[in-house]
Amino acid sequence: MKITFLGTGDMFSVDQHHNSVLAEFGDTHLVIDFPESNAKALKQYGFPMTDIHNVFITHLHEDHINGVQMLGYYAQIVGDRKPRLFIHEELVDPLWSILSPGMRYTTDGERTMSDYYDVVPLPDGGTFELGGVTFETFRTKHVPGMVSNGLMAKSYFYYSADSRLDQKRVEEVAEDVQLIFHECHMHDLVIKSHTSLKDLEQLPAHVRAKTVLMHYHDEYANADKRAEFNQQHDLRMAGTLESFELDT
Ligand SMILES: [Zn+2]
Ligand SMILES: [Zn+2]
Repeated sequence: MKITFLGTGDMFSVDQHHNSVLAEFGDTHLVIDFPESNAKALKQYGFPMTDIHNVFITHLHEDHINGVQMLGYYAQIVGDRKPRLFIHEELVDPLWSILSPGMRYTTDGERTMSDYYDVVPLPDGGTFELGGVTFETFRTKHVPGMVSNGLMAKSYFYYSADSRLDQKRVEEVAEDVQLIFHECHMHDLVIKSHTSLKDLEQLPAHVRAKTVLMHYHDEYANADKRAEFNQQHDLRMAGTLESFELDT
């Protein structure tokens, strides 16, 4: 399995793309979240957007979904099929509320969500399978009252999505995965809905050793700055368009 970061930036990032990954395995793939910056990242990476068929949406903050309208239109106008959207069942209607002002009315009449996307609603803790890989969803500790999901592909990776550190869960799953992709804001201040470097440094050394940081601010868009960080720490930062190969 090959994991490529289409973006590693936080919500305010302008120098790098917003956080998203493309997982390629067997003859299929999964993109986690779809910010608008994915269009540029996919072009840079050389993966046509018409070939994007599977997307998992973690939550509805704009930096994770502001490319979903484009993806739907692009697939309909240029592509050969509707993209499949794996998404928590409680987020389907709210997502359509965001998309519908720009997608409901067309020259061929009114449209609904299912005209653009093949929606796969997932219950709490729901799982789905693609290319022989089972993906397990779980609630993240992001914003109280707001549905947000992380993703785990056992024996491959754990993906925190936007979340405070769920230390118990991370330590429990560490044995079962090759890499832990964890958000880390990298600011020297407390942001109650996100994880700090100090939080992650509380993890045991063997867990830190497989932890890769993402969703950080633009100061670390600079590759030299990340390289310096990676030399000085036992956890490491991912860069935009950087790939990680996981054993199958
Ligand atoms: Zn975010
Ligand atoms: Zn968020």
